[in-house]
Amino acid sequence: MKTLIHKDKEFIEAVIAKCDVCYLGMADTDGTPYVLPMNFGYKDGTVYLHSAQEGRSISILERNPKVCITFSTDHDLVFQHPEVACSYRMRSKSVIGWGTVAYEEDYDKKIEILNILMRQYSDKEFRYSDPAIRNVKIWKVELEEVTCKEFGAPHKK
Ligand SMILES: Cc1cc2nc3c(=O)[nH]c(=O)nc-3n(C[C@H](O)[C@H](O)[C@H](O)COP(=O)(O)OP(=O)(O)OC[C@H]3O[C@@H](n4cnc5c(N)ncnc54)[C@H](O)[C@@H]3O)c2cc1C
Repeated sequence: MKTLIHKDKEFIEAVIAKCDVCYLGMADTDGTPYVLPMNFGYKDGTVYLHSAQEGRSISILERNPKVCITFSTDHDLVFQHPEVACSYRMRSKSVIGWGTVAYEEDYDKKIEILNILMRQYSDKEFRYSDPAIRNVKIWKVELEEVTCKEFGAPHKK
């Protein structure tokens, strides 16, 4: 088994499409890291998130809006010998992306983005109440750099 680096956009987007959570890393100006699990949507190179209007993450992002987002899927524990710890591997695929958080304030665009978020989880059509749209904070992270690795890929025969 080996580790592969993937640069193909379709492969990378397929990994992201399979994830139901991302891990969003922030860095405060004193260097303190802060990583949150978050639900997300993705379209055309941009990750979309939503949150309350206030909180520790929003405060950190006011000081430093740069983030790093990790996605990971297809986790599968495999081994060559059940008694040998170093023969165990976690097959998996993961993507890391970097970007800067910007907020969407336009009412109709917020609905479009919420639809992108919901499509990550469901094929249904959704309606949103007026206060829900006004109160939600919508984050956009255009990915400036992306890397993708596949762990435990079988060697080709
Ligand atoms: C699977 C999953 C998906 C989620 N999806 C979303 C989402 O889409 N949008 C969203 O807004 N939130 C989501 N959350 C919650 C999210 O992780 C944060 O808790 C939330 O966004 C509040 O963050 P904050 O920085 O405003 O926290 P604050 O309310 O300001 O947090 C106060 C303190 O609580 C602690 N804390 C905050 N969050 C967590 C946490 N997750 N785990 C342990 N300790 C914590 C920290 O020490 C922090 O200093 C999700 C959580 C999980 C587990």
